Amino acid sequence: MNTFFIEFRDPLFGIIIFFALIFVITFFSYWLSRFKKKEDYRHLDRFLRQFNTLPSQSELKVLITKGELSEKSWLLLAHSYTKNGNFEKSIEIYNELLKVGNKANYRDTMFLLGKTYFKAGFLERARQIFLEILKNNPRTPQALNYLLLVYEHMKDYNSALDVLEPLEELKKDTKTDSAYLKSMLLLNNLEMSTEMKVNALLEIYKGSNQLTYLVFEYIFRVNPKLAWENFDISKAELLVDILWNIDKKDLNFDIIKQNSYLRELYTAKGYIKEADKSSTFELDVLINLKKSVNATLSFEYICDNCKQISPFAFNRCSACHSIDTSRVELGLAKDYHKDFSEENNSFQ
Ligand SMILES: [Zn+2]
Repeated sequence: MNTFFIEFRDPLFGIIIFFALIFVITFFSYWLSRFKKKEDYRHLDRFLRQFNTLPSQSELKVLITKGELSEKSWLLLAHSYTKNGNFEKSIEIYNELLKVGNKANYRDTMFLLGKTYFKAGFLERARQIFLEILKNNPRTPQALNYLLLVYEHMKDYNSALDVLEPLEELKKDTKTDSAYLKSMLLLNNLEMSTEMKVNALLEIYKGSNQLTYLVFEYIFRVNPKLAWENFDISKAELLVDILWNIDKKDLNFDIIKQNSYLRELYTAKGYIKEADKSSTFELDVLINLKKSVNATLSFEYICDNCKQISPFAFNRCSACHSIDTSRVELGLAKDYHKDFSEENNSFQ
């Protein structure tokens, strides 16, 4: 029995204790290093999480009131929130700054708050802010311009037209805005007949010589015959997308044959054979391909003022708010409509 026990004076006992100690120390140091590594990750996670979660309204309030960051830093932060589309946070910052910030910047912060409300689509709040600015500082053209935009988005065109008066007093050119708002007022009038609208729009067009797209997009839609009679064919390129999509029965070939661009356009479309080449690349390709390839024109719209590109036609640029600066850019695309009609025909 005693053979199974090792006496503590036995040298073997010392060796076993020695190895046991090494094992315990190694185990602890390994466990400690793992634990430390895990803690490091957790710390890093906690640190990075700060940037993913935004400060709450009460946290912001405390941070701004403490005054550790300058007002300019807060304004820059709010601006970057607005740029990223986080309007809620920038509105909170502006509102807190208005409560505790420097009174010298009060009007500027109010203006930025109004702009953010407008961008976020809170039109009524934006209106109140701009009216508040104008109550104390009536000669603020920036606030007047935004108030005009707010009314326009609210479809309150009469109030928008009223804003033009103080802008004129400040020597601002309001001719285009006036023609545009009057046209929008007409188009949104539910009591006027189509015929009256067309005549009134033509009056505005002849008076301003602007808004070709806005006016003729409507007239080509409701009365193509009258549109062809009044359309200045030298401006055909401005309306190329509308002209391209007009039904063949609504085309006036007597007028089309008088203009080289229109001849090329409708030859490319395949309605006539009056051109064998074009200086416009896309039309030239379509004329030369004839109908052998399933291709058509595609359109996108670029603002001449700020170069913003939009897939949809616009009369007022959503980025720089200028009117009548849209230019159509041509492209070539697969004709899905033709594909679809051919598929349908194959079932007949
Ligand atoms: Zn623009």
